[in-house]
Amino acid sequence: MLLYRKNYLEFDYTHIIKPKLKNIYIQVNKNGEVILKSSPYRKNEAVKLLEQKKEWVAKSVEKVKNRVSKENRYINEGSIFYLGKKYPLFFYKQDCKKTYLLFDEKEFKYFYKDTFADCKKRVEEFYKKEAKKIFNDRIKFYSDKLSLYPKEIKFRKTKRRLGCCMSDNTLSFNYLCVKLALEEIDYIVVHELSHIKHKNHSKEFWEQVAKEFPDFKKIRSFITL
Ligand SMILES: [Zn+2]
Repeated sequence: MLLYRKNYLEFDYTHIIKPKLKNIYIQVNKNGEVILKSSPYRKNEAVKLLEQKKEWVAKSVEKVKNRVSKENRYINEGSIFYLGKKYPLFFYKQDCKKTYLLFDEKEFKYFYKDTFADCKKRVEEFYKKEAKKIFNDRIKFYSDKLSLYPKEIKFRKTKRRLGCCMSDNTLSFNYLCVKLALEEIDYIVVHELSHIKHKNHSKEFWEQVAKEFPDFKKIRSFITL
C-alpha cells in the first residue's frame, strides 16, 4: 500500500503490476480502496494517469466511504425485532470466510471480516427461515382446528401486505411478520385460513375469525411491520 498525498486530496492506493496488462486501470472497490493496475513497462505512466484523475478518484472514494459510514450508523444503532421483542445487534470483526448472523435468545451477533454491507441481507435470511418454521407450525395447528387446509404455503417480502389467500387457496405470507408477537402471527394465520372459506371480508368472514379471536379488532390495530 502506497500513500498518495497531493493537493489536499488524500487516498491510499495499491499498484498491482502484471506484465501481461496492456492497458492502465484505475478502480475504486466497494470498500473504498483505490487499485491501480498496469504492466511494469507503463508503471510511471500509470502513476501519472492516477495523478491526472485524482479528483475523480477522490470523489469516488468519498462516495463509497459515505455509503459505508451510513451502513455503520444503521449497524451501531442496530436492534432486531423478533417475535414481538426488540433485541440488540452486535458486530464482531473477525477472520471469517463468509458473514453470518447468530441469535442466542438474548442478542443477535453479526460476524464479518471486511465489510458489513450484507448485514441486512443476513437479517432477512434469518427472518425468512424463522417465518417458514413458525408459520408452518401455526398453520398446521389452526388448519386441524378449523378444518381449513391451504393448497400451498409461500413466503415473500412485501411492503405492506401481511398475507394473502389466492383463488386456488394458496396462502402467501410476508416473512417480515416474524417481527410480530406470536399472538399477532396467529391472528394473521387465522385470517388467511378463514379466506379459504370466505373469499372476501364479509360479515361471515369476520364471524369465522372471531371464533378464534373475539378481540381481533384490538390485535389488528396493534400490527405494524
Ligand atoms: Zn383478508
